[in-house]
Amino acid sequence: MPPMEKGLRRLTGLVDIVQKWFMRQTIRHRIVIGSVVSLILVLSIYSAYAGTVCAVKANGEIIALAADKATAKEALAEVVDSKTREMGKDVYYEEDVTYKGIKAGNGTGEVLDFDGLKARMNEALTFKMQGAAILVNKEERILLRNEEEAETLLGWLRSIYPIEPTDQLEFKEDVEIAKVPIEINKATNFETAKKMVLLGTNKIVQYTVNDGDNLWDISRAVNIDMDQIVSTNPGLDPENLQVDQVLYLSRKAPLITVVATREVTVDEKIPYPVEVKYDDGLLLGEKILVCAGVPGERTVTYKITHENGIETNREVLNQVVKSEPKTEEVIKGAITMVASRGSALRLAWPCDGGVVSSFGMRWGRMHEGIDLAAGYGSRVVAVAGGTVTYTGWDGGYGMKIDISHGGGLVTRYAHLSKIHVNVGDSVDRGETIGLVGSTGNSTGPHLHLETIVGGVPRDPLDYLP
Ligand SMILES: [Zn+2]
Repeated sequence: MPPMEKGLRRLTGLVDIVQKWFMRQTIRHRIVIGSVVSLILVLSIYSAYAGTVCAVKANGEIIALAADKATAKEALAEVVDSKTREMGKDVYYEEDVTYKGIKAGNGTGEVLDFDGLKARMNEALTFKMQGAAILVNKEERILLRNEEEAETLLGWLRSIYPIEPTDQLEFKEDVEIAKVPIEINKATNFETAKKMVLLGTNKIVQYTVNDGDNLWDISRAVNIDMDQIVSTNPGLDPENLQVDQVLYLSRKAPLITVVATREVTVDEKIPYPVEVKYDDGLLLGEKILVCAGVPGERTVTYKITHENGIETNREVLNQVVKSEPKTEEVIKGAITMVASRGSALRLAWPCDGGVVSSFGMRWGRMHEGIDLAAGYGSRVVAVAGGTVTYTGWDGGYGMKIDISHGGGLVTRYAHLSKIHVNVGDSVDRGETIGLVGSTGNSTGPHLHLETIVGGVPRDPLDYLP
């Protein structure tokens, strides 16, 4: 016989015995016994229910135990109330909160008091409110407490770059303000939001200007394009840094571009063209003026575009020429004596591509060479035969080659991506020495070329054909 059936048979046996004993009692005894049994039953049911607590559930998961539902609800109401007061607007919680009585016992956890409940709800629930988002090109970029803050932020942005009263202002990007529910602690502090718009990030790196600093050196040191530093520091005068002035540095561009356009009418000179003839009888750097140029004059109306305070376009809308310029005619020498060989050589252009930045003052500092536009990895050739005197990294120059051509002429090639020669190598005019790159202080691929004559940098354009 299986053990369960055996137990059942014993139980029915026991019930039989109790029943027989009960029937043998007098009626009065039977009533007393019945009452006692009922009382025991009621007491045990009561004690079972007296051991229940209220489970607070968020989306079906228990987050806290309270003594009863009323206490739990009151605690939650107080949390919502205090957040509403703090934010100054309606705060709600995102989760579906329910209450359920459960039997207290092992494993159900600690029943929290009122303050404990508030603390637990505060951390377990997601509190939200109606906020505002600034959308840039349809993407939520900055969350703020309300639309007024968003409006104020955009208004501030329109006002910070040096602007003429007649400027027409617009944002380059598609910028919108939208009402969105936001988590109450995810709203960006207004001052931080200002920096985020300017720097494109909330990671704010500051630099305090030291005595003797200039923007060019700072830009080289932190490897951030100078234009970028100007645009993320509205009103900055690159040529007049103040000691202890704080600069905000970011490799990211400002989040929003303020485009200001204006029309300006000015009287100006028309530069005269230069006609150059070469004469191999003249030495490198020698120049004979055949006929001096005379600039013309015109009244011109420009449409000038500034983006975040930096001029990005100048378009001629209308011009009235008062006098035409007169062409200058010069004869230039284009050969150099190479002392070691005692022969004359003509200089070659070191790469294809026009001059994008000329020799002379730039950003309050001397630009000691010219910048030539050339694609990354395109060939750089020696402008004349000579001996390589330097190869390798040199600070802001990045990867650099110096070639001595004798007769006191040294040429320098900077920002290279590859170097194909070594110090001491003899190179010929037109021989490939390296490849164009963007190493060192450079914002894009180009070749920086210097011609140093007797230790003094000279304008390479005076020596190139
Ligand atoms: Zn340069």
